Amino acid sequence: MRKYVIMGIQGSGKGTQSQLLETDLDLVHISVGDIFRWNVQNHTKMGAQVRRVMAAGELVGDDLVESVVRDRLTEHDWNYGFIIDGFPRNRRQAEFFLESYDIDGVIHLDLPDSEVRRRVLNRRLCGNCGINYNLIDSTPAVPGRCDVCGGELVTREDDTEEALAVRLRDYHEKTNPVLDVFRRKEYVVTVDARPAPEVVQAEIRLRLGLPSLAARDQAPDGRPGEARAPDGQREETRSA
Ligand code: AMP
Repeated sequence: MRKYVIMGIQGSGKGTQSQLLETDLDLVHISVGDIFRWNVQNHTKMGAQVRRVMAAGELVGDDLVESVVRDRLTEHDWNYGFIIDGFPRNRRQAEFFLESYDIDGVIHLDLPDSEVRRRVLNRRLCGNCGINYNLIDSTPAVPGRCDVCGGELVTREDDTEEALAVRLRDYHEKTNPVLDVFRRKEYVVTVDARPAPEVVQAEIRLRLGLPSLAARDQAPDGRPGEARAPDGQREETRSA
């Protein structure tokens, strides 16, 4: 059982890296932002509650976020573990989380603000299946259309200059201190998020003592291995 938190500023690739981890390690990827977006798209009561806050790039209230996380984790569909993305985002959420769950590590994707802007403002999302694209290096074959389902590519409502400014400010003011809480417990591995996704993924796996994606592909049954990092390797040592 492996329980990870993935943290990083908007556009640092949390979703992409989580998906690469979940495919062969049987981890369940839990994205709090995706849960809210699903509710907005499906016009639920919760969607109506969070839509404006999200579009402005602000943080949803802690009570609601905590109940969403609690409900999601009590589904217990994560036999091999989970990787939670977009949570916790402030000290209170971190304390709530640590009171209720043991975690094995925090993956911190480190990206300078200048690169965040470039990535976020070029990000597109399939309005139908939710796959992410960017107009820099993962452009779709047919402009404006999803390669997988043919759905229309849209810009996230919160991927605007104004909302990005709010999110960057919140990240530095509220979310960075969460890393300090986790660092004190020696959970954090910091990985440079600037290289290509597969390079970042290889580094994450190396630092966490997880089998590499390539080695996994060669395994006869494709099941998760048991390789674990010695505790000392989970400490943050790498500079970006
Ligand atoms: P994300 O996809 O992680 O960038 O999240 C999109 C939006 O959902 C954020 O800008 C917030 O409005 C809301 N959100 C997601 N996770 C949280 C959280 N842990 N605390 C508060 N708001 C959140």
